[in-house]
Amino acid sequence: MFFDILTIFPDLLDSPLNESIIRRARTGGQIQIGITNIRDFATDKHSMTDDRPFGGGEGMVMKPEPLASALECVKNMNGTGHVVLLSPQGRQYNQQVAKELSRKQHLILICGRYEGVDKRFIDAAVDDEISIGDYILTGGELAAMIIVDSVTRILPGVLGCADSAGKDTFSRKLLKHPQYTRPRNFNGVEVPDVLLSGDHAGIERYRFIESVRRTLERRPDLIIQEYGSFSKAEVKLLKKHTLFDQIKKLHTEQ
Ligand code: SAM
Repeated sequence: MFFDILTIFPDLLDSPLNESIIRRARTGGQIQIGITNIRDFATDKHSMTDDRPFGGGEGMVMKPEPLASALECVKNMNGTGHVVLLSPQGRQYNQQVAKELSRKQHLILICGRYEGVDKRFIDAAVDDEISIGDYILTGGELAAMIIVDSVTRILPGVLGCADSAGKDTFSRKLLKHPQYTRPRNFNGVEVPDVLLSGDHAGIERYRFIESVRRTLERRPDLIIQEYGSFSKAEVKLLKKHTLFDQIKKLHTEQ
């Protein structure tokens, strides 16, 4: 997977893209990352990438020409790719969208700044506008890093344990079960016995039930979406723990 990131603040991306799993994926060849400074494509003597909005009003707007030239350069070097503009007005990012993007060969992520980007550039060049949530960031760089991180960890071969990403929260419409590590007793609180039992099937059942309980408690909106996807064995287990009727009730009430 090739990520191209277009930004006027390339240094902002340095450390997060050179640590931990992302660094390993880069050295392992699962991903490549190209960073392009949009300012290098400004043509006036002050290297301006923004200007005042037509019609007046607050702030500055990113000019279309440097963006268009930077994008053209990246496409000439690395191919057309799927062009994403990070924008609070885009479709909402989630694990489904991460999976969808992970199937692309080449993502071109454009980071906005100031009041945003000239509409004519967006209409002509952008395939997809993505928002990471209903709040306003100063720029698209953090949002771009969130996409690079979340897409990279689900690419084949990136995580040490192949199954790990498949069991994360949101791989189904369920939050992941609680986790425990050593010591067995922390401030008088013991690790649940079943986790020390060595009974792998029992542990799986316990984790599934805890995952459902937690989702019911914290994200009933998610569990409603999972209703209908439970296997026969899971339904039986949920009934045994008197959880199935609660989920069914939520589903019928929605
Ligand atoms: N004035 C714009 C508006 O009200 O829609 C907000 C511009 S914001 C200060 C500057 C840039 O940060 C945006 O162009 C976008 O690239 C990025 N950005 C801000 N919030 C974002 C979000 N929730 N998701 C993705 N990108 C975001």
